[in-house]
Amino acid sequence: MFDAHCHIPSPAQIREIPSDWRGLVCTSRQEEWTSLLMTVETSLGMTGAIGALPSGKGSPPLHMIERMERILDHAPSVQIGEVGLDRRFQDAAPIAAQREFLVDALELGYRRHRSVTLHIVGNERILFDILQAKRGRLPLMIWHGYTGSVETAKRFVATGGILSFGPSLWRPHLKLAARLAELRDMPFVWETDWPEGWLPEPWRQLPYEEMLSAHASRLAAAMDTNEERLEERIDAIGTLLTNQQTPR
Ligand SMILES: [Zn+2]
Repeated sequence: MFDAHCHIPSPAQIREIPSDWRGLVCTSRQEEWTSLLMTVETSLGMTGAIGALPSGKGSPPLHMIERMERILDHAPSVQIGEVGLDRRFQDAAPIAAQREFLVDALELGYRRHRSVTLHIVGNERILFDILQAKRGRLPLMIWHGYTGSVETAKRFVATGGILSFGPSLWRPHLKLAARLAELRDMPFVWETDWPEGWLPEPWRQLPYEEMLSAHASRLAAAMDTNEERLEERIDAIGTLLTNQQTPR
């Protein structure tokens, strides 16, 4: 099974991962890049994605893009993620700086043929401004942990984007959960955001593999669709997301 977004597991957690598994393992902190690259090199099925996000310390500096590019050039399977916009840190990381970094990261993904994992909290209007301005020069993108509206989801898909649904969909009172069937025919993947992301209470004690399949089953049921067919479809998208080094 393919997991479109998780973080660096500990060595003990790596032993929980089934042998036929594949996944995109992301980081949003530069301090983690080295350990991520080492982990994915020695673990079967893992594709690494390096990124940096706005935080309380500010927006990632633009020169970090050059460092990312050097790593991508040496590691043809490494992708980009997480990068994006986050309204919560706007005081420390002004939106203009967030925007500039995201534009450069998308451009890098396009030039180097790598997928880009987006983290978007608020500021959707700015995201669509960027996507519109970069039309024709966009990399393959996933919107990780998507929980927004059906309308925004369709708009993102229209730009060529892929939605990624994580366990955060099952937070109490989230409106999208009841409307997932409307997105059944859109390009989307599933993800766990494990071991960092939010999980419904009963899943917190489950081994990773059981948690991923509980999420997959619940998503298929909410979309009123066949889980096996969904898994096949998501595996195929997973291949695109992890093999972006092939020239287009
Ligand atoms: Zn994440």
